[in-house]
Amino acid sequence: MPSAVAEAPFVPGNSSKILQTILPYFPSQSVLTTQDYIDLETTYGADNYHPLDVVITKGQGVWVWDVEGNQYLDCLSAYSSLNQGHCHPRILQAMVEQAAKLTLTSRAFHNDQLGRFYEKLCQLSGLPKVLPMNSGAEAVETAIKAIRKWAYTVKGVPDHQAEIIVCSNNFAGRTISLVSFSTEEQYQFGFAPFTPGFKVVPYGGAAALEAAITANTAAFFLEPIQGEGGIIIPPEGYLREAERICRKNNVLLVFDEIQTGLGRTGKMFAFEHEGVKPDGITIGKALSGGFYPISAFVSTHEVMDVFNPGDHGSTFGGNPLAAAVGRAALDVIVDEQLPEQAAELGAYLISGWRQIKSPHIHEVRGRGLLIGVELNPSAGGAQRFCKALMQEGILAKETREHIIRFAPPLVITRSQLDWALERIERVLMAS
Ligand SMILES: *Cc1c(COP(=O)(O)O)cnc(C)c1O
Repeated sequence: MPSAVAEAPFVPGNSSKILQTILPYFPSQSVLTTQDYIDLETTYGADNYHPLDVVITKGQGVWVWDVEGNQYLDCLSAYSSLNQGHCHPRILQAMVEQAAKLTLTSRAFHNDQLGRFYEKLCQLSGLPKVLPMNSGAEAVETAIKAIRKWAYTVKGVPDHQAEIIVCSNNFAGRTISLVSFSTEEQYQFGFAPFTPGFKVVPYGGAAALEAAITANTAAFFLEPIQGEGGIIIPPEGYLREAERICRKNNVLLVFDEIQTGLGRTGKMFAFEHEGVKPDGITIGKALSGGFYPISAFVSTHEVMDVFNPGDHGSTFGGNPLAAAVGRAALDVIVDEQLPEQAAELGAYLISGWRQIKSPHIHEVRGRGLLIGVELNPSAGGAQRFCKALMQEGILAKETREHIIRFAPPLVITRSQLDWALERIERVLMAS
């Protein structure tokens, strides 16, 4: 297989040659039904998710297909991991070519892909140093380690005393340390004891942040827009105010851009909306366009320089396959002007939603193509609307109980949004 793939010439916009070379490695047409697949998962799998009853087998651009051949518009994008759309041909090409050449070296050796991926990420983020990981949670763990070590070795906080200020209603991932500062009861229940060293302030209130800072405060760590928390946009000026307070107190400002970054909100990174300069950011999700778990902590020299060889690492972090895929995924965001697309089409979709005069809608809010539709408590929960939307060919998922999240791939078109809005209106007006 490797030589066959390496020889397959790539035709932009037509990945069929590549598909022909890899298709023999997949089992032929499925014979199982939707229920069979679901039964297999529930029989053998942990019950830690509650998916819609749809079994997807194929995706292209904004569309996915289930095992029965039904077509859906993906309005979740794997929680904003698919900004570039499903199976983007350019990222696919990079992945297949690199997979046939070199996949993993570990960081015990250099590889010829990593440096170029770093360079691209630094150019786009405006921050000079990268530490690559795999999942988003690991990138946040990395940020927390960097913050703490900076506190002890640069700021001079007494050993074991470093504090990190976070916001209520945050989401940062599922490791023990990250759920330690969650304010969601379910994310913590049964998982104690927790990691100390975090202080929670309300999201959006600069005065509370200022009041919480002590001589031992290392950083303020937050999402520029809270994604899992329900697409919560802080008051205008909050990030700038947070920056001012952090600077005044020698406290690092670190943003979790895992969901908001890479074009989703209409800028490359959401912190750009307020023109602030963070000391570090975490990136994940769309960093591979959905092909591969790739994440990174990106920061200033001062912060990243706390790491010395052996301090921290990951066997797969920064592997050549990830680096090649990540670089292609970033190229697509830039070349296809996805942040600009998100800004323009997001405004269009939000105004479309706002024209729907349903008694169930409490508020439509969003930035770019990260949109939350909060329903009234009397609507009976967002889940039933997601099920009804699925019947209309739209896949969306609730976040929290009463909020429908709308985050289609950024490659969506205006006419596809019109198609969706027609169906959304039908569903929201129906019951
Ligand atoms: C999804 C997400 C994470 C965690 O990413 P995983 O890849 O699921 O570990 C962290 N922070 C934010 C803001 C996220 O949206």
